[in-house]
Amino acid sequence: MRLEPALSLLAQAGWGLPEGLALGSQQWLQSVVDGLCEISSRDALTGLSNRRLFEAAIGREVDRVARIGEPALLLMVDIDHFKKVNDTHGHAAGDVVIQSVAASLQDCVRPMDTVARIGGEEFAIILPNCPPAFGQTVAERVRHKVATLPVEVIGGQQLSITISIGGAFAPQWVRSSATLWCERADQQLYRAKTEGRNRTCLEMPPLTVVSAEEKSLLFAGFAQSDLIADSGPIDFVPKTTE
Ligand code: GH3
Ligand code: MG
Ligand code: MG
Repeated sequence: MRLEPALSLLAQAGWGLPEGLALGSQQWLQSVVDGLCEISSRDALTGLSNRRLFEAAIGREVDRVARIGEPALLLMVDIDHFKKVNDTHGHAAGDVVIQSVAASLQDCVRPMDTVARIGGEEFAIILPNCPPAFGQTVAERVRHKVATLPVEVIGGQQLSITISIGGAFAPQWVRSSATLWCERADQQLYRAKTEGRNRTCLEMPPLTVVSAEEKSLLFAGFAQSDLIADSGPIDFVPKTTE
């Protein structure tokens, strides 16, 4: 078996294999596999979950919410005017800002929450078992932490950074899709940007959140005649707050 490429990848990522294991032993091979799994699910710049791990985690959460009915919140986070940071202070300073924001996000949440870097300066946070009444508090805690923590970049200069946050709750007891959930949180992020940035916009869960598309997912596999009555799409009028 040729393991050099795998070992050099691990070394490059700073992943140390446990000492004392016999080279080529089953335990040693297992630690190589574990290391590869770990680095393939982490973002190299920040150490957060990467997009691949995020997609797996949100898929599992959608299933859990449908099965157990617990409320879960998804937050989409984007650094404000980040291009200006790169343009004014350079790409390396931009990287320091991304790392600092990543650390702040991770600091503000529970170990059970998933914080992921899903794009250049875009992050997502999945908060399982987060009651709607706490959603705004959690999101504001994150926003406030970033806004009040200056980032020291190369040369010792302190930069003030802000983020915009959009959030949406997963529809409880309903088989929805991760894509629809992300789209709803993204719409709120867009609203936070257009309403001035450095703010949080959450779509609060309405009493009924079954869209036409979700309804078709819920009843996938049933013939139309199996349904007692098809009343068409249920109105979806989200109540929003800031
Ligand atoms: P807005 O407030 O609307 O979000 O404005 P913005 O300037 O932040 O705009 P946008 O979100 O489109 O900016 C993304 C920029 O992030 C563009 C790209 O050059 C930069 N970028 C993406 N990935 C990285 C990275 O890994 N490091 C650095 N330094 N910059 C990155
Ligand atoms: Mg962006
Ligand atoms: Mg941005």
